[in-house]
Amino acid sequence: MTRHSARLVLFFLLAILAGLAVTGRAMDPQMDRRIDAEIEKFKSEIIKIRRFIHMNPELGNREVETAKLIAARLQPLGFEVRTGVAKTGVVAVLRGGQPGPVVAVRADMDALPVQEATGLPYKSLNPGVMHACGHDVHSAVVLGTAMVLHALKADLKGTVVFLFQPAEEGAPDGEEGGAELMVKEGALDDPPASAVFGFHVWPESLGQVLFAPGNVTAAADSFTITVKGKSAHGARPQEGVDAIVIASEIVTALQTIVSRASDPTDPAVLTIGTIAGGSRRNIIADRVVLEGTVRTLSEANRKKIPLLMESIVKNITGIYGASYQCEYVPGYPSVFNNPELAAAMKPTLIRLLGKDKVVEWKPQMIAEDFAFLARKTPGFFFFLGVRGPGQPAIPLHSPTFNPDERAIPIGVRVLSHLIIDALEGQSALAAGGRGL
Ligand SMILES: [Zn+2]
Ligand SMILES: [Zn+2]
Repeated sequence: MTRHSARLVLFFLLAILAGLAVTGRAMDPQMDRRIDAEIEKFKSEIIKIRRFIHMNPELGNREVETAKLIAARLQPLGFEVRTGVAKTGVVAVLRGGQPGPVVAVRADMDALPVQEATGLPYKSLNPGVMHACGHDVHSAVVLGTAMVLHALKADLKGTVVFLFQPAEEGAPDGEEGGAELMVKEGALDDPPASAVFGFHVWPESLGQVLFAPGNVTAAADSFTITVKGKSAHGARPQEGVDAIVIASEIVTALQTIVSRASDPTDPAVLTIGTIAGGSRRNIIADRVVLEGTVRTLSEANRKKIPLLMESIVKNITGIYGASYQCEYVPGYPSVFNNPELAAAMKPTLIRLLGKDKVVEWKPQMIAEDFAFLARKTPGFFFFLGVRGPGQPAIPLHSPTFNPDERAIPIGVRVLSHLIIDALEGQSALAAGGRGL
């Protein structure tokens, strides 16, 4: 399918789904009951699998055992399983019994270099490594969805591609990895998907789904600025070029990029996270290194900000006779939810969860490499509330992050319905004679 025809298909799919939403008709009440029955059947196994993955966390591009577990669960069911995709990734294809289009769903599998401090009976057995970002839940939910949809295979109108992706948190130095490499290695091409779904757990109320049409997360780029001055005795400043004074001016001036040079309705963040320089209290520093991150939503800001940064650094160092080096490293792009797909999926969410549990949200300035998948294929990414009633809102990456496991069957239910409704919409289109 060409990119153009994929867009055309999406357009008509959305029109059909929107039509169904307006009439308020459930897709198939019998299917609803069957999904619930399958979830009930698999629930305890899925939670066990999640706990096993939680106890055995693996870092990015090293998810060997996690990938093995996933492949071993799906292969005997007849999924077409490819392993070793983007290093340790797994792609599992489920072909439904009815003809229809292809949609994909992605889970990330990697853990973080964090020492777990939850005290849970199923806490990490791998010292210094923890599933502190909930990717264990993502893997279990997507695996559970695969099991549920497999049970409904005969009536499934199309094909579902399950992507288990390594290294969302970043690949080890010098290695490629993550969603970018999955796309490069054709994870969305064989068979070609016309929509891709993904989600992240979030410390919001259990049972809630939060999403933003359009930008969901920010592009996250990083930088290192080195100011090179000249050392001198601390009592004879006239003989040196003080890199600390110059760096201080740079730190202050860089803040004006967001406050004075950016459109206030187009959010951006410029954070300097480290500053290091000098060797002794009475020696003028000849070198200061600043490190930081820039978060943007629009491509315009993403292009403009590094240019403004370099201009500030160049001019301030120039005034004082210092030299500089700017290193700017692009990171993940912004996750962009296809607005029409998001609008078409919203009625499914409302039908499942109730209006008050479906929250249209603002973009978050965090980063997610799902962005690469959603750049390749129209994407829908949402956040799943995992904070149980009365539980504190512990942020992601915290050593005490402990998502409520009751979110797991909710996640399976949401994903199963999103996928089935997306396939149904596209199949209705195919039946209308437009072809896929
Ligand atoms: Zn994370
Ligand atoms: Zn994460």
